[in-house]
Amino acid sequence: MTSPLLLSRYKLAAFLACPQRFELRYLRRLTWPAVPRPEEDEERAALGRQFHQLVQRHFMGLPVDKAAIGDARLRRWWDLFAQNQPDLPDGRILTEVTLTIPIGRHFLHGRFDLLVIGEEEGRPFAHVFDWKTGKAQDEATLRRDWQTRLYLALLAEGGGALWGESAPPAFDPEAIRITYWYVTEPDRPRTLPYSQAEHRQNWEELTAVVSQIECHLESGEWPLADDLAQCRWCSYQIYCGRGEGDTAVPEPDESEEELLFPDVEPALP
Ligand code: SF4
Repeated sequence: MTSPLLLSRYKLAAFLACPQRFELRYLRRLTWPAVPRPEEDEERAALGRQFHQLVQRHFMGLPVDKAAIGDARLRRWWDLFAQNQPDLPDGRILTEVTLTIPIGRHFLHGRFDLLVIGEEEGRPFAHVFDWKTGKAQDEATLRRDWQTRLYLALLAEGGGALWGESAPPAFDPEAIRITYWYVTEPDRPRTLPYSQAEHRQNWEELTAVVSQIECHLESGEWPLADDLAQCRWCSYQIYCGRGEGDTAVPEPDESEEELLFPDVEPALP
């Protein structure tokens, strides 16, 4: 039997896009055979990292010296955040906190930019905030996104671990929500609530995806993507044999957060 997997939203999305890419990247850990990222992408990713660090610093109660922010775009992002930061509910603020829960013999894993937990009318709640420096998405797209689905499910199934000693085992889905804040639309944060019914369906689908991964682990077979559009920008064309090999560039579906916090799998028992 293979070792248990630590499954992040990137891994779930990669598996659903192309099982072969998931295997090459996350199981065989082949390095990307791609040409270097365009300079502009590198620069934007670096700025995204720095922006998250500034916001984290702010919520840790440390001063942010705007005059010391050298890059004009980053300074502008910080201004936009300072002028439009979403209201936080009263509660305990946790920055860059991670949560890992079991699913079958594997684990689901997420890292929250910011999480507020507390009580509202005597009922525990959890509210995730996520900072985005890319293109703003509409609420329907965000609701389907694996980040949303994974983060809400993590809290509904195992969020109590963040509460403390007298922890409830998890949060009631009705008391969980996530807010996405975009530098590109700073005055229009998107807040998505959750519910029992959504969680039942979400958890069922997550379990089904993990079961599919388990089946492929057992068979050792990792099919190529059905959707050829997935291959167009895939960095693994030269490994799977579907492509020219010298035209691959890094995948555009990788968001800045993965560059910020690459998934490092801890040793599991
Ligand atoms: S090129 Fe297509 S089939 Fe090959 S690994 Fe990438 S997405 Fe999968």
